Amino acid sequence: MSLRIGIGGIFIECNHFTDQLTDSSAFKRSEWLSGAELLAKDTGVLGGMLSLLDAKGFESVPLLYASACPGGAVRTEVYDALKNELLQLLNAAGKLDGILLCLHGAGSSVNAPDLEGDLAQAVRSQIGDRVPIVATLDLHAHITAELLAETDALLAWETYPHIDAFKTGERGAQAIIDILKGCLRPFMAMAKVPLVVSAIQGQTKPPGPFADIMNEAKRLEGNGMLYSINPILVHPYLNLADMGGGVLVVANESQSEAVDIAKRLTKIYWDNRHELQPQTFQPRDAIRKGMNIEGGPILLVEAADCCGGGAAGDSVHCLKALLAEAPDQTAIIPVVDPEAAKLAHEAGIGRKIRLRLGHQIDQKWGEPVFLDGVVVRLSDGEFTYCGGIWDGRIGCMGLTAVVEVGSIQIVVSTNATYDWMTEQFDLVCLDIVNAKFIIVKNPMNYQQAYEGIMKSAFVLDTPGPTPANTNVLNYTNFISDSFPTDADLEIDEPIVLISKRRDLAKI
Ligand SMILES: [Zn+2]
Repeated sequence: MSLRIGIGGIFIECNHFTDQLTDSSAFKRSEWLSGAELLAKDTGVLGGMLSLLDAKGFESVPLLYASACPGGAVRTEVYDALKNELLQLLNAAGKLDGILLCLHGAGSSVNAPDLEGDLAQAVRSQIGDRVPIVATLDLHAHITAELLAETDALLAWETYPHIDAFKTGERGAQAIIDILKGCLRPFMAMAKVPLVVSAIQGQTKPPGPFADIMNEAKRLEGNGMLYSINPILVHPYLNLADMGGGVLVVANESQSEAVDIAKRLTKIYWDNRHELQPQTFQPRDAIRKGMNIEGGPILLVEAADCCGGGAAGDSVHCLKALLAEAPDQTAIIPVVDPEAAKLAHEAGIGRKIRLRLGHQIDQKWGEPVFLDGVVVRLSDGEFTYCGGIWDGRIGCMGLTAVVEVGSIQIVVSTNATYDWMTEQFDLVCLDIVNAKFIIVKNPMNYQQAYEGIMKSAFVLDTPGPTPANTNVLNYTNFISDSFPTDADLEIDEPIVLISKRRDLAKI
């Protein structure tokens, strides 16, 4: 009889600086899977886990898997419902030989700020200490002592932009097989430094300060007892104690090797801290610089309003600057505004409308703009992701309209969606190649989405819950000082968290 591995997880990246909370509709729009629906996944982390287990003759037993676009902390009742459903399915699953969880690592609910640690603890208390738990994480995880203590191996993604979700799922599945076969006796160490920077300089394709650390980690991996080495660039928009960047090591047998290598690589991380800080521009200055560059598109990177980091996507700071500085230039900008999208649909194509647009969801970051425009396109907002973590899945912007204000095309949507490539703009047939300016609201994926097209890109300094410069955020739960809030901070040693040694069952 084949060995049975329970598969599930709750996958969300949360933001503590938005006033929004994530409710059940965000998961229902995305993924809330169990049974045959979960087993049918053939892309992303889950796809990788399922395919490798199947190829190696293991039985995958579906628990609950839920994912949602990044957002505010998950409402208590929503997290409780997800967790209870997962635990009930676990209880009903019969004897399991191992558990594989697909997690993000920067999830948070109102009642469990360390969502993954809480979930892992709940699963552990139900299955006991003999059954291995392996979890995969985003490399933007906030890895806590509890998560390390309750799991046996954690494997994080190794690319940013994230193109290795499937492969990471396979790595997770391989790790649990290796544990069950007795060829991996895992011991984990996570070294951290108080480095809380945005993801702008976090690309893993060289050159870059984070790419340097990733390369060094991969060079060392496989040597001796080093099973897996994962640099972690913590999601900086949580407000929790002990946040920091660092390196997670899974060693085979050797505790000292795990701790030594995690500390050594984390020191390199700290040495690179100034290179991890981005250069930013005021919107007006970026537009003026863009006007001096021949052709386009020029990307205006409004990182502070990144839906993929938990922002509402409703900022109009850069739109206001465009209206003031370059109203006659062709430009494209996305704005999430359910009321405006509804008005545009009620008006219909070709009709003039007056809008009060922006800052209506997460209101503390700015004032709406009043403008007259023409509705030129309408859509139900459904598109298919063409890669990345939600590869092949439907993205749901809800009622969506393109409203033209002079030469500026505003994509007004109802729901925030993660921007992987240019799926949202392609859905409404926008001519991105011939636009002078395109406002993108993510810190990294624009580099791959507009590779070979963009003439230049400027990262903007605007208000919002996902800013490029994290030193503007008011972190109230940090125990120690951090960089770059304290730009002159010096430290002696990284802190090191370690896992528990368990007497795990083997085949
Ligand atoms: Zn990430």
